[in-house]
Amino acid sequence: MHSAAPLPHFPYHPDPVATGSIAPSDAECICCERVRGFIYLGPVYAVDEIEEELCPWCIADGSAAERFEAQFTEVEGVIPHDAVRAIEQRTPGFSGWQQERWLTHCGDGAIFRGHAGAAELASHPDALAAIEADLNKYGFAPAQVNQFMSSLDKGGQPTAYAFECRICGVWLAYADFT
Ligand SMILES: [Zn+2]
Ligand SMILES: [Zn+2]
Repeated sequence: MHSAAPLPHFPYHPDPVATGSIAPSDAECICCERVRGFIYLGPVYAVDEIEEELCPWCIADGSAAERFEAQFTEVEGVIPHDAVRAIEQRTPGFSGWQQERWLTHCGDGAIFRGHAGAAELASHPDALAAIEADLNKYGFAPAQVNQFMSSLDKGGQPTAYAFECRICGVWLAYADFT
């Protein structure tokens, strides 16, 4: 259906089609004003309201961020400024129930692996432990922690957001809980 060029490479979000942040589309990009065959579906933090109107190429080369003073996510943690810029201004973000945060590890931003539920995280004990640590920090009782962990649903609520460290390979995750 589409004869679009291969998607740009996003080192911090290598498969944005699989995660649902980018999808095939005949929509015109408001930045390059071209129909590129794919459109970005994730959040855009900018003065203007921009919804499903940017192509992946204008995100990758920074032109969308520059032109609309936009960013697509927010880095959590202290990493070099260049990495913060690469993630916040040149990487597709992802949609969450609450304000999204991009996790970091080993002094770099982590790779976003997508929304995840209990089934997806079962083989990633590091990611499960990270969420449990958050719950414990917020004073959840052990029974509540177990209940919450088993209710995590990739396509529902609560859901987890999974990352993988680019340096050491450990999996990280956080979940929304209100
Ligand atoms: Zn564009
Ligand atoms: Zn690491």
